[in-house]
Amino acid sequence: MPELPEVETYRRFIDETSLYQPIAEIEVQDPKRQLQVDLDDFRRALLGNQFTGTNRIGKQLFLLTANGPMVTMHFGMTGDVAFYRAEADTPRFARAVFHFQSGFRFAFVDSRKFGRIGLTPSVEAFRQQKKLGPDALTLSTEELTQGLAKKKSAIKPLLLDQRIAPGVGNWIADEVLFQAQLEPERSALSLLPAEIDRLATSIREVLETAIAAEAIYRDFPSHYLIHAREWDEAPVATTPNAHLNCPRCQRLIQKKYVGGRATYFCPHCQQ
Ligand SMILES: [Zn+2]
Repeated sequence: MPELPEVETYRRFIDETSLYQPIAEIEVQDPKRQLQVDLDDFRRALLGNQFTGTNRIGKQLFLLTANGPMVTMHFGMTGDVAFYRAEADTPRFARAVFHFQSGFRFAFVDSRKFGRIGLTPSVEAFRQQKKLGPDALTLSTEELTQGLAKKKSAIKPLLLDQRIAPGVGNWIADEVLFQAQLEPERSALSLLPAEIDRLATSIREVLETAIAAEAIYRDFPSHYLIHAREWDEAPVATTPNAHLNCPRCQRLIQKKYVGGRATYFCPHCQQ
């Protein structure tokens, strides 16, 4: 599933390929399912228009345009992006294709069709409508302190709350708690200011590391918990002989369910 690191790499890819090219044609394969606005309105807003930049909050991507509304993209379970020229190079699961006057094409690719494309007047309007918190990649200690204020529940499910740190998915939350050496079931209320600071730093570091590795998990540093995870849906194989020992203390990593989600942690290092 594309998480924040993947969506950030898509965003940078779009910046490098698809800006400042007038849009000549748009095809959407299954607009009733994947387009959140009327197809005619979508085409009217974008034909002759051009993308001028990108933005992102968590896993939500925004494509800014020269005139009028911006395009929103959410990648669901299997969303991806592609840029190419020849019809023959069209990816098999291209669901929306933007044809540029330059002859190049940008495609929203999505085999399982859980992704969504829409229009919004501004990032701020979208943020308010969806009640999204400040993006996790740049989350400050102050913002995290505010997000966790008066919250009694366990820290792990709070990290997955899009109102607090949008973009933190299940494995990222485990990694962040491991790096910050915090027990996943600790009540947010019990965290000391220094621990919240450590947590905010870990969120940024884990995401920056994942983006630098272009979300290829086997390239993550060896002190990361991710190598000791069992993947239910194995997105990418990690090390071939993935051991299940803590990369810090070598004791066995444990798995339990916190807030209904599989959670990996080291009982020795995370107290
Ligand atoms: Zn350990």
